[in-house]
Amino acid sequence: MTTPHATLHVELGTRRYPILIGHHILSDQLIALLQQSLPHHGRNILVMSNPTVAAHYMEPVLQALQKADKDYRVQHVLIPDGESYKNLATYSDVMDVLVKHRFDRDCVIIALGGGVVGDLAGFVAATWQRGVQCVQIPTTLLAQVDSSVGGKTAVNHPGGKNLIGAFHQPAAVLIDTDVLTTLPQRELGAGIAEVIKYGVMADAAFFQWLQKNIQRLLDKDAEALAYAIHTSCAIKARVVAADETEQGQRALLNLGHTFGHAIEAATQYTSWLHGEAVATGMVMAARLSCLRGFIGTTYRDAIIELIAQAQLPIAPPAAMDIDTWLDLMSRDKKVKDGTMRFILPTGPGAAGIFSNVTQAELTAVITESVT
Ligand code: NAD
Ligand code: MG
Repeated sequence: MTTPHATLHVELGTRRYPILIGHHILSDQLIALLQQSLPHHGRNILVMSNPTVAAHYMEPVLQALQKADKDYRVQHVLIPDGESYKNLATYSDVMDVLVKHRFDRDCVIIALGGGVVGDLAGFVAATWQRGVQCVQIPTTLLAQVDSSVGGKTAVNHPGGKNLIGAFHQPAAVLIDTDVLTTLPQRELGAGIAEVIKYGVMADAAFFQWLQKNIQRLLDKDAEALAYAIHTSCAIKARVVAADETEQGQRALLNLGHTFGHAIEAATQYTSWLHGEAVATGMVMAARLSCLRGFIGTTYRDAIIELIAQAQLPIAPPAAMDIDTWLDLMSRDKKVKDGTMRFILPTGPGAAGIFSNVTQAELTAVITESVT
């Protein structure tokens, strides 16, 4: 099947950038994208990836760059695979490469990988010589619908995830749906959780589409994936354009994340993938919302049913007691002035930010969710 490619834009004035989505475009469109979206870039290009992704996709990217009319000087660097390498030590290793090869201010950093590579490459681009251009080529579904768009870049500190970072928008995002053919099924599921999030928080029609088409996504149906990615990116692009640095509505993208982050932290970021924790977090947000009377039981159960159909977890670890929950949720980055904030669905395709949730309500939701 050939999906004609489609382009969305993140409307940020002079920093406006395209998100190109298509099938078989990794090597076909890269050069055109560089020419059109980065008109003043120089010859130096650094492609960052990891061994897992590079084994499949580095060669086509390097070949495309070699074939370009422009006489590129291309370096590539592979960072070890895994969240634990998204740190300052790896960042420093990459900086050494840039120093060694005398990369200048008009160089381009290309991120070829999932969110780990993308966040690190973005942070390298944000800080090398006070900021150079970055192109994101996301290769996980999660990175395609979430982390590659929006300009949040970061590395982790032993004291917490994403503590060291910067807002730095990419110059372009290239999403080739073909790369998902090699993505492990569990990673696909984690991305589907974020896709469901967009339907719940912003688009009732998309939620209904997901109810009918969730199996096609699990089966990696190319057309269904392209549609889901396009719809998700369009929502993220709109939200980011309206609130780039999360002063307000961008926080709605964190639906399910306050509960989810607590699950990830309680399980030491090892047994649950982020998307899996967000999936259960959305179930808990739906329950809390129903308890507060914002949504009825029918819609609450539809959310839970969709998440279950996506083969994502709907119950948190039973071993987490209420004190652990409260402790971990109050440490979340989204806490403002010591108050926990919850993003709750308020109706089909709508969500709101609430900071007046009581301990009694949380206890009720946690108890209801475990059983
Ligand atoms: P990841 O980057 O670790 O990728 C998951 C696994 O899939 C890795 O083992 C990777 O090597 C492998 N992989 C990637 N693409 C593949 C492919 N096409 N075929 C086969 N294997 C492939 O994880 P992720 O879920 O993509 O990203 C998680 C990271 O993203 C976290 O660090 C998180 O903090 C960050 N994130 C950032 C934002 C943001 O706005 N910047 C948003 C969400 C998440
Ligand atoms: Mg997320």
